[in-house]
Amino acid sequence: MSKYKIALLDGDGIGPEIMTEAVKVLRLVEQRNDVSFELIHTPFGASAYFECGDPFPEQTKKVCDEADAILKGPIGLNHEDSKKIPVDMQPERGALLPLRRRYNTYANFRPVYLPQGLAHFSPLKKEIIGDGIDIMIIRELVGGLYFGNKETGVNADGIRYVKETLEYDEVQIRRIAKVAFETAMKRKKVLHNIHKSNVLKSSVLWNEIIEETAKDYPEVKVIHILVDAAATYLCLNPGQFDVMVMENMFGDILSDQGGGILGSLGLMPSACLGDTKAYYEPSHGSAPDIAGKNIANPYSMIGSVAMMLEMSFGMDTEAKNVWHAMQSVFAQGYSTPDLSKPGAGVKMIDTQSFGDLVVAELGKLPVG
Ligand code: NAD
Repeated sequence: MSKYKIALLDGDGIGPEIMTEAVKVLRLVEQRNDVSFELIHTPFGASAYFECGDPFPEQTKKVCDEADAILKGPIGLNHEDSKKIPVDMQPERGALLPLRRRYNTYANFRPVYLPQGLAHFSPLKKEIIGDGIDIMIIRELVGGLYFGNKETGVNADGIRYVKETLEYDEVQIRRIAKVAFETAMKRKKVLHNIHKSNVLKSSVLWNEIIEETAKDYPEVKVIHILVDAAATYLCLNPGQFDVMVMENMFGDILSDQGGGILGSLGLMPSACLGDTKAYYEPSHGSAPDIAGKNIANPYSMIGSVAMMLEMSFGMDTEAKNVWHAMQSVFAQGYSTPDLSKPGAGVKMIDTQSFGDLVVAELGKLPVG
């Protein structure tokens, strides 16, 4: 029997609610397969700051260091509540970026996926969405503006200023480029490289490395698109994209737009891979506006479990089963409140019921 230790970082806002549903699925996967999961909940984010004075406490670092994989709920507070925490201890700066840095999780996979049967959830017109949406956004996750030096101060004229550095070296770009080309090879062999080389020198180097790496993958067709144009095409013609690769901040923004064209950020799971450690998290934030109401969509969290099963534990078939179970719940006419307005033909369900229905569907599927 395979045994895995999983660190569970419930996080803030809707985090604990959607984590509960992910755990239900993990427990069923355990029953159905020759596998055992040791699940260790450990504090992270704003809740950890209020509990232990540190958004990424030592005890959490230890659990994560020892874990085979990390499953992370969203973190963060609303704008007003954030001010209750010193700027450098706020969840992203104090916990999320340090987590990414600690495990050097440079490759972020963000699937933007809506099969044809669920296309009605998308705000895009039928003629645009066609057979559905199936894009893999690959975002560099530990470089660029988010990780560069930050300086704030007051200049000689008494004017407050801020300076943040956007830095990449060729090693950082080459390793994410390689991930993107490898992914393209497993899919349609088309790679859209997203950049801003008409303005940013970082993009000029980025593009050079993409072109150098392309020589090792002659079968992959590379298409270069400026990030601003890519934002438009994601709405007007998402079908042209298969694998998209981009630097950290572009990926943060465009992947949220990906959630928008699907119909909700609640449909956006993700995987964050380093060479020795991986963590899995929904792409979205802690949704403080709906926290505690049992109405969040746990698809993003359960999808992150599916990605963990496949990418960390090699359980490809069971991962597919989890995707299939979630999609068959929606295909039966059920919807979470983020995806549909109440109305005829919509069977509205809450967070817990979605988890229960996924478990029921998964239980019906053959294991092998
Ligand atoms: P958000 O992603 O939390 O929410 C944006 C909108 O999407 C909200 O209307 C929310 O209700 C909805 N939404 C998100 N996930 C949903 C789900 N699973 N089901 C249904 N609806 C869902 O963005 P925000 O409100 O700008 O940010 C809230 C906090 O989250 C901030 O503190 C932000 O810094 C943080 N954040 C954390 C992460 C992370 O943990 N990786 C990522 C993004 C934002």
